[in-house]
Amino acid sequence: MSIILKTASELRELLNQGQITSVELTQQFLQAISTRDPQVKAFQLVDATGALEQAEKVDAKRKAGQPLGALAGIPVAVKDVLCVKGQPTTCSSKMLENFRPPYDSATVEKLRAADAVIIGKTNMDEFAMGSSTENSAFMTTRNPWDLERIPGGSSGGSAAAVAACLAPVSIGTDTGGSIRQPAALCGIVGSKPTYGRVSRYGLIAFASSLDQVGPFTHDTLDNALLLEVLAGFDPRDSTSVNRPVPSYTQTIQQPLEGLRIGVPKEYFEEGLDSEIQSAIKQALQEYQKLGAKLVDVSLPHSKYAVATYYIVATAEASSNLARYDGMHYGYRAKPQSGEKLDLIRTYSRTRAEGFGKEVQRRIMLGTFALSAGYVDAYYLKALKVRRLIKNDFDQAFSQCDVIMGPTSPSAAFKLGEKSNDPLAMYLSDIYTIACNLAGIAGMSIPCGLTRTGLPIGLQLQVPPFEEEKMFRIARMYESVTDWHTRRPQLVLGK
Ligand code: GLN
Repeated sequence: MSIILKTASELRELLNQGQITSVELTQQFLQAISTRDPQVKAFQLVDATGALEQAEKVDAKRKAGQPLGALAGIPVAVKDVLCVKGQPTTCSSKMLENFRPPYDSATVEKLRAADAVIIGKTNMDEFAMGSSTENSAFMTTRNPWDLERIPGGSSGGSAAAVAACLAPVSIGTDTGGSIRQPAALCGIVGSKPTYGRVSRYGLIAFASSLDQVGPFTHDTLDNALLLEVLAGFDPRDSTSVNRPVPSYTQTIQQPLEGLRIGVPKEYFEEGLDSEIQSAIKQALQEYQKLGAKLVDVSLPHSKYAVATYYIVATAEASSNLARYDGMHYGYRAKPQSGEKLDLIRTYSRTRAEGFGKEVQRRIMLGTFALSAGYVDAYYLKALKVRRLIKNDFDQAFSQCDVIMGPTSPSAAFKLGEKSNDPLAMYLSDIYTIACNLAGIAGMSIPCGLTRTGLPIGLQLQVPPFEEEKMFRIARMYESVTDWHTRRPQLVLGK
């Protein structure tokens, strides 16, 4: 089996046994990128020189018998929303096209401390706003399972990079589904940790009360390994929670005795594709065979989740994105010949030229929801509904260990299919958004393929800080199925 098809845990073994060096491994992935990325377009930037230098350092450390981090010598791709010192960090926006942060994000610091090899930055929807990666100002990433389809979004580049075996693991962010939905559509594992579990320091903000960083991997063992590296308290992020990080990889092989799976009736109503529905039902049966009990639960306010999210997230975005005014850093509009740009015109021209259509739409929606006379009716009301959504989960979790259902209502759609219909696009996250509003943890694992060979994702949601349990439950499914071992034809070759 070609080395690039392997999981990070398998690669770790090979590196430890001395069967391959990190330089060789990194070269293999760089080779894969140069062959396949022109079609997939997952990467915004490939740092071949930096990656090989780091790989050499790790190899030398290993040779000298020095202690090594958990990801020693493993290539990792990072979503272009996370600051990497001195490297372009664009958020796939013209606004930040030439921005080079003077510091590393906490996530990148942690990856470096674990001796990982950062191989490049991945494409995304501009400022993480979108579900298809078509909102990138620079290019559209393709789904490795079908190049005519979208990979999901907003972390579509990171998901496609792993699915196309251009990197064994990658990092994304999830504000309303941007890790879980692309993971589902690309046939890989993606988790959104509990709000506060991973530091947001150096993560360019979209909606600060919802944003979380998380890993994309081929299987749940790798996902646990990555989260173990990423999680932990950071005083530089005031919402980071000071709790010990369990050793997820140590317990992941232990099945959960007496597992109770909550199945919300609201997840199987109109809008759900029938092939997805039957794959999810089959996955639930697999769990029953393993001894799990299915419990009917209800999340009565989940029907308001999308509406609530598009008030809370846009309100926060309108405030977070106010900093891009052409003054401190980022894009600045240039005067046209003979024109004098005063301060206000510089602001407005900069923002009109620097932001794409979707970002502008969100800024306007958010500004409206926060404006005097409307704030009570929209923003403050949305906060109350958010509380009701959270209460639904608390109630449901009193009856079960995990809530399961589809990650996405349909498999990957065609490029351009929803670009002119923002509402249809927003509904792609109908099952993932409530998790962010409630601040709980969730993940998507592969659980099938449609008749036309497109991946389907099963979503697991657990109470805050129960990632350890979540991984154990997900691993139970992997131990009796092989969906996580599938790779797209594009990678397997003719
Ligand atoms: N698709 C959702 C949006 O456009 C979620 C994005 C995300 O999680 N970053 O807002």
